[in-house]
Amino acid sequence: MESNATFLNYKTGYRLWNVGRRSPLSPLKEFFLGSVTITGPNWPFSEKSESRCFRYLEHNSPVFDCKCGIHAFSKMEYMKDNWIRKGCIYGKVALWGRLIEHENGFRSQFAYPISIEGFKCFRCGKFFTLKKLLHFQELDFYYNLIYLYYPYCTDCNPHNPYSDGESFYTPEFVLNNIRKNYNISIER
Ligand SMILES: [Zn+2]
Ligand SMILES: [Zn+2]
Repeated sequence: MESNATFLNYKTGYRLWNVGRRSPLSPLKEFFLGSVTITGPNWPFSEKSESRCFRYLEHNSPVFDCKCGIHAFSKMEYMKDNWIRKGCIYGKVALWGRLIEHENGFRSQFAYPISIEGFKCFRCGKFFTLKKLLHFQELDFYYNLIYLYYPYCTDCNPHNPYSDGESFYTPEFVLNNIRKNYNISIER
């Protein structure tokens, strides 16, 4: 129960994730929350993510004058104002352990997702709540045989020339699997 006590004493941040999955040909069918930096680690099911420094092995991450740590924005508005990349989902995240505060957010030692609340459309790039989520498009990505699933909003034509012949997944299929895997809430 000691780990629960630690978890109660956390800060809440906002961040974005890629939706990923191992190759559909592999026996691992589960969707996971992936780092938006792509080469970063995937977020494990039912256990905390722990920060590691990829530049300096000796860093007890996060270190003040480095970029290491698990990044999150302190407010939803900061996330929406500052995040450029399209095709991810966002939500709340619990942050604890060593924590470095910045003007717009945090870098923490440990983190675990709390909720999924919306997405940034892969086509138009706008932020929406999950009510506007049309589907996820599967795109293969050969780094570590990870497949990425990009969200589209209901305003964007699903039959655009870039999506013909690709695989699509309903929000229910993908988000229910993520909810089960992480035991988190999905705000629809
Ligand atoms: Zn570092
Ligand atoms: Zn859109």
